[in-house]
Amino acid sequence: MIKTFCAVAAFVMLAHAPVLAADAPSPDALRAWHKRELRVAGIMHKLRLANLASCPKQELDYGLVVARLADRASPAVRTTQAEALGLRDYPTALGVIPGSAAEQAGLREGDLIEAVGGIAWPLTDAVPDARKAFWEALNAGIQAPTMEIRAEREGQTRDFHLTGKAACIASLFMINRSSVNASTFGSRIQVNSGLEALLQDDAELAFVLAHELAHVILEHTGPGKEAEIKDPAVRRRIEMEADTLGVLLMARAGFATAAAAASIPRMRKANGMMSRLLGIYGPYMSTDERMVFLTKRADEVRVQMAGEAQGR
Ligand SMILES: [Zn+2]
Repeated sequence: MIKTFCAVAAFVMLAHAPVLAADAPSPDALRAWHKRELRVAGIMHKLRLANLASCPKQELDYGLVVARLADRASPAVRTTQAEALGLRDYPTALGVIPGSAAEQAGLREGDLIEAVGGIAWPLTDAVPDARKAFWEALNAGIQAPTMEIRAEREGQTRDFHLTGKAACIASLFMINRSSVNASTFGSRIQVNSGLEALLQDDAELAFVLAHELAHVILEHTGPGKEAEIKDPAVRRRIEMEADTLGVLLMARAGFATAAAAASIPRMRKANGMMSRLLGIYGPYMSTDERMVFLTKRADEVRVQMAGEAQGR
């Protein structure tokens, strides 16, 4: 009996380090990390948009990641961030998720954002709170149905009109940790970089993310539920529910459901000793049992999807 990858966190993990600023990586390492973050975010984006019908809680999504050189970072870190990611003192479009509202509006990675909703980025922070007003406009923008962005690309200023897309509520963080694991607390999903590195097949990674999204949708975890999910019977039930719904979620986002069972032996092999150490809640299903369960579920979902396609 070996516990597989999914630890339902009973607490929120600390400190997502989006650009590994703390240990001043090389530009190549920073670029590689960023590419991996965007891979995970891109798969999650597909899952969140394709599964509105299953999500009781929705939010608008623009698929745009904005960042700028940190004022307080060391000169060496700033230089690396500028070289590797194209960051400037201007807020920069650091990530534009494929298929998102931002991409469809024409924004591209590297665009320098000059204004949001008519609020311009102040070149200096001489005016108190002027920069704060810009970030507030950006935050207000992502909660409104549409957003106006003025950005500079290759010396030319362009205007972009974005229309937000409804998506399932879920936030995703990839943390720099080599163990093969993912966890969910409330609507916050955390993926270890070791899991992303192991699952190079997008559909296999999509299954793991879909399983976590299922925990979010079914409200399995969160404040006040820590004790409940330590009960092995409860744990087994919610994990089976997450697998059951997860396979459907990945199918709706266009991923091959056979990848669900295929991901399991890979994770078992990688986890080995670690999975036994992590087995604090006890195993909820053996690897073999889970593979049989997921294979059967994949067949059911294929039949269901074929039926839905015919009905359209
Ligand atoms: Zn789980």
